[in-house]
Amino acid sequence: MTVALVTGVAGQDGSYLAERLVAEGVRVHGLVRAGERPGSLPGSVRLHVGDLADVDGLAALVRRTRPDEVYNLGGISSVAYSWRYPVETGAVSGLGAVALYEAAWRLQEDAGRPVRVLQASSAEIFGTPDRTPQDERTTVRPASPYGAAKAYAHQMAAVYRARGLGVSSCVLYNHESPRRPETFVTRKITAAAARIARAGSGTLALGNLEARRDWGWAPDYVDAMVRAARHPVADDFVVASGSTRSVADFVAAAFAAAGVDDWARHVTVDPRFVRPVDPAEQVGDPRRAREELGWRGTMPFDEIVGRMVRHDLGLLTA
Ligand code: GDP
Repeated sequence: MTVALVTGVAGQDGSYLAERLVAEGVRVHGLVRAGERPGSLPGSVRLHVGDLADVDGLAALVRRTRPDEVYNLGGISSVAYSWRYPVETGAVSGLGAVALYEAAWRLQEDAGRPVRVLQASSAEIFGTPDRTPQDERTTVRPASPYGAAKAYAHQMAAVYRARGLGVSSCVLYNHESPRRPETFVTRKITAAAARIARAGSGTLALGNLEARRDWGWAPDYVDAMVRAARHPVADDFVVASGSTRSVADFVAAAFAAAGVDDWARHVTVDPRFVRPVDPAEQVGDPRRAREELGWRGTMPFDEIVGRMVRHDLGLLTA
């Protein structure tokens, strides 16, 4: 039986990944932080309480669970948080990843069989990118503590690859679902659209409406990560839809899906939500993932927004 260890199992991607692996018959071990309550996880997932910043604890967990596949989805998930806690961000999202590679490499040496590792990297490693769209050859030049920590983990993946560990890094662009927390703009918008549609009134305060992002469907991005982890040749893979929409486009689509036509009447711009440093546009070129992994996004933009809005309308009815 294949054994997988998933950090960040309680998060959006971790929960979709756990469901997928359990359905395939994989035994799944998941790392959760103390006090963290995972939402919807299959009952067979074995949860371990620990912290990515605890190097010795991670090594012991890998020794104990002896995984064939390690998925590092854990870490600080917000750029804004990383500005407030840059040292913790480095420890968790940077060093934590390296601690996992090291533990996986030691297990591989001891067990005499391959251990595959998947690093969930981020478009934030490119900071304000020097080319559009970005691909695996784009300069890594982060502009936030979050991006810098992810860049270190991304570059160490290549170092461990050269050392003989099958570690792939998926450079993930924004990927959304009804499981996104409202700290992300997409879910904040769909929850507000549902609330305003039900109440017939209300407002939504946002930051930069002109920022453009490359938004995809989270379960598709989890599929890319599984394909990358199992691909015979470990590598870096940009995972993106390849097209961008503005925050305003997202608002318009969400309000339309909720049945509210005049979205502009309900939206205000609040400087509190405008970021000091924010890439105006991020867009990835997923050609390598398509060609090497046979990966494709399955969900058009309007369908992503529609599913999230319908979910949020459903929550208000329940
Ligand atoms: P990120 O790209 O990983 O930081 O994902 P977010 O969903 O948090 O932000 C996506 C984009 O939406 C960024 O360019 C934000 O500046 C922009 N944005 C505009 N208004 C808001 C808001 O009210 N909340 C958040 N989180 N982002 C906003």
